[in-house]
Amino acid sequence: MLVSAALYCDSGERAVRTNVVIVGGGVYGVATAWHLATRGADVLVLEADDIAAGASGGLGRRGVRANGRDLHELPLMVDAYERWPRLHEDLGAPTGYERVGHLQLFERHHDIGYADTRAKVQTALGVPTRHLDASAVRDIEPGLSDRVLGALHAPLDGTADHDATTRAYAAAAERAGATIRRGARVVELTRRGDRVAALTLATGEVVETPGKVLLVANGGTAPLVAQATGQALPIWTIYPQVVVSTSAEVAPFHSYVGHLHRPVALKMVPGTAVMLSGGWRGRHNAATGRGETIPASVTGNWADAIAVFPAIASLAVATATADRAETNALDHVPIVDRLPGLDNTLVACGWTGHGWAIAPAVAPRLAEWVLDGACPALLRPFTLSRFPMLSA
Ligand SMILES: Cc1cc2nc3c(=O)[nH]c(=O)nc-3n(C[C@H](O)[C@H](O)[C@H](O)COP(=O)(O)OP(=O)(O)OC[C@H]3O[C@@H](n4cnc5c(N)ncnc54)[C@H](O)[C@@H]3O)c2cc1C
Repeated sequence: MLVSAALYCDSGERAVRTNVVIVGGGVYGVATAWHLATRGADVLVLEADDIAAGASGGLGRRGVRANGRDLHELPLMVDAYERWPRLHEDLGAPTGYERVGHLQLFERHHDIGYADTRAKVQTALGVPTRHLDASAVRDIEPGLSDRVLGALHAPLDGTADHDATTRAYAAAAERAGATIRRGARVVELTRRGDRVAALTLATGEVVETPGKVLLVANGGTAPLVAQATGQALPIWTIYPQVVVSTSAEVAPFHSYVGHLHRPVALKMVPGTAVMLSGGWRGRHNAATGRGETIPASVTGNWADAIAVFPAIASLAVATATADRAETNALDHVPIVDRLPGLDNTLVACGWTGHGWAIAPAVAPRLAEWVLDGACPALLRPFTLSRFPMLSA
């Protein structure tokens, strides 16, 4: 079956509506769809499974953190700081956003100089940050282990309910006129000259597109790019581990807590349970096709967390999962660019475990790039040309 995604016109006095097909219904797909639809574009989102079925959904909460982030991403976080507190009003639904502040702890004396410098640079870039000594960090979190020597504190950081936010973006996009098709897996891109002209679904249906294409399918992006261009994007799939504890009688801490040299990230989640993530990984299960936890990694992550907050030793692991895939980029910086040789196709992937917080700032710029044709300044650092074999 062949259908056309075009509801556009190009004749005479009628306005031209840009036609856009987006592959992927995670936060990037549906947030960009919302921005495009509100600007009058004709948008079709093709999602293989369901909204928030990938990294943008699942257990716990996601960090909205500038502290310790790659410096190239900080201007986007400054913009995201403005958007997150009002996003629930803009979308007309809760996002669960809370500005609890982020502490990046350290335990090594030689990190004191780093923390001083990092605090100055982050602050200069628009991310207010203080270097706290051992006493000052305990004024914020009294339950910290004695081994913590200090922290970088970014009070404008926070956490959000990623599942709810992604669904809120999708609902707002649909209200604004975007079409979202669930259960629509794209298996092939058809090139005509320097354009992607059609997308084939797993069902055999062919979606013709005379307009633009945006590939935001996270782990599903690289295979489509390889098939259409013969190029291998420098990304790979990881399965980040998430642990949620039993409930505490009293919350053992209130901030969003990370660490400079331990793979630990701690957040409080509703019901005074502790969510633990921060860098431990699960593995791919070929039989289920999904990620699964490695028991020794759950134990290792929990031990790291207790080393930071001894009070949580009284809690137990209630749930652990590694079922949400993410893509890592080789240099740990996202990729957002036009695909070499394909003038109508943009790609955004390789978020490397920190794509959530900046999504509200990246999505409107992706929409701008699609509609206006030029790369917005804040997206320039994420070009494919930093990998020479992939430049246009
Ligand atoms: C456990 C975990 C914890 C994280 N914690 C944080 C955090 O604290 N802070 C932070 O900033 N970031 C965090 N991240 C990263 C962040 O969640 C992701 O970077 C972000 O959600 C990626 O969004 P996305 O829309 O690109 O991808 P996804 O949400 O994965 O969406 C991609 C969608 O594409 C669909 N798809 C795939 N292939 C195809 C195809 N061929 N055709 C059609 N559809 C397809 C998938 O079904 C999926 O729904 C975390 C990620 C994970 C997994």
